[in-house]
Amino acid sequence: MARYDYDLFVIGAGSGGVRAARLAAMSGARVAVAEEHRVGGTCVIRGCIPKKFMVYASEFSYHFKGAADFGWSVGKTSFDWPAFINRKDIEIARLSGVYVANLQNAGATLLHGRARLIDAHTLTIDGQSVTADKVLIATGAWPTLPADLPGSEHAITSNEAFHLEALPRRAVIAGGGYIATEFAGIFNGLGVETTLVYRGPMILRGFDDDVRAQLTRELERRGVKVIVGCHQTKLEKTAKGIVSHLSSGHKLSSDVALFATGRAPNTGDLGLEAAGVAVNDVGAVIVDDYSRTNIANIWAVGDVTDRINLTPVAIREAAAFASTEFQGKPVAFDHRDVASAVFSQPPVGSVGLSEAQARQGGGKVIVYRALFRPMKATFHGGEEKMLMKLIVDGESERVLGCHIVGPDAPEMIQMAAIAVRMGITKAQWDETCAVHPTAGEELVTMREPYVPSEL
Ligand code: FAD
Repeated sequence: MARYDYDLFVIGAGSGGVRAARLAAMSGARVAVAEEHRVGGTCVIRGCIPKKFMVYASEFSYHFKGAADFGWSVGKTSFDWPAFINRKDIEIARLSGVYVANLQNAGATLLHGRARLIDAHTLTIDGQSVTADKVLIATGAWPTLPADLPGSEHAITSNEAFHLEALPRRAVIAGGGYIATEFAGIFNGLGVETTLVYRGPMILRGFDDDVRAQLTRELERRGVKVIVGCHQTKLEKTAKGIVSHLSSGHKLSSDVALFATGRAPNTGDLGLEAAGVAVNDVGAVIVDDYSRTNIANIWAVGDVTDRINLTPVAIREAAAFASTEFQGKPVAFDHRDVASAVFSQPPVGSVGLSEAQARQGGGKVIVYRALFRPMKATFHGGEEKMLMKLIVDGESERVLGCHIVGPDAPEMIQMAAIAVRMGITKAQWDETCAVHPTAGEELVTMREPYVPSEL
């Protein structure tokens, strides 16, 4: 007789939970996974995937604009928001179904309902009690609104943005992170009068400063109004729409006030105290390199641990956990040099150190930079510019960081990330023959170090 109902109980069927449950089940373990909403989690249901569909939808307007110079007559265009949302929801349902099927094919048991820990080995799911040898917390995170904002009930978060009944005429987006920046591009491209309001001095905190400045310029060029050093002090619903009162004393009226100002780990009402699992001051589960919590049989992966909150990271942490605990191969996921993309318009790709981070060490840093009009834009007379930047260690000549703003940046950065992770030198990058005509060839043909006075 087995001592527990399951060898592994996974709380949350998102990016991390599904991967861990599948791999553990495929290696012969008896696995259950509980999901209170829909299988697929944030990424599939209300994150990466529907967001990218929206970006695709939004980008058409930009392509229509340049089409005439390429010989096309586009004619009058219009956008049907409900039709798009309906199509998007069909595709999301299909993908969620694929996740369910993958779990079932692997032999995991899917339980619908909210799971809570009663003690380190016992959980309840909607009143039903189960026991497990090992428990994996993969409950993700949830958007938050500023606690002290009068009228915050008039605000929406990214969750609701995916289900608006109608496309707003005007949108005010609060925040300067990647989610705020992406929604600014989405709404702007769909013809919505869009204002981005960010408390800090420049959007995309944590990214290279040239990237931040370049993206700001390009967002503004495409029509997004970017207001920095300012925040909403109050929201008010009036006949004119939602009025955002700004710290500058100004007011902005909009049909939607979207807040992308923060996300909190889903650790509330999870029974962590009962099980003795420690969390940090933002409520994230504290884990070591192997995603172990302070309780010997409980692990946590993904956004609930607030390390690098991206889908592939959650998946790799989960895979490392499954490998260590169920496949006899101990693995700790290495969080260094994780590449990331911002699906803004234009998009950003980034990996490794920013120039400022590289300079913090005090050593010699060499910067290579290319700022140019992408080929397609030159053809149709567009003024936009593309930025590429390499950060090189002056001693070892290793490329420490690569940053791109412009078309296809997310696709390019995936490849550049291999080189940055391998720690090869600038000379080795340049030994690689260019692919022509591409924007990416700039990455292997930047011969002269960048002198700031060129700016
Ligand atoms: P989640 O995917 O959030 O899954 C957690 C699951 O646990 C959820 O389904 C939840 O319902 C369930 N759950 C929670 N508590 C319980 C409970 N007590 N019982 C049962 N079930 C429970 N990342 C990228 O890499 N690229 C992107 O382009 C990108 N875009 C994003 C855009 C937006 C708008 C957002 C919000 C996020 C985006 N992310 C992106 C981040 C990415 O979605 C997350 O990093 C990823 O989903 C984290 O996976 P996870 O497994 O930790 O949690």
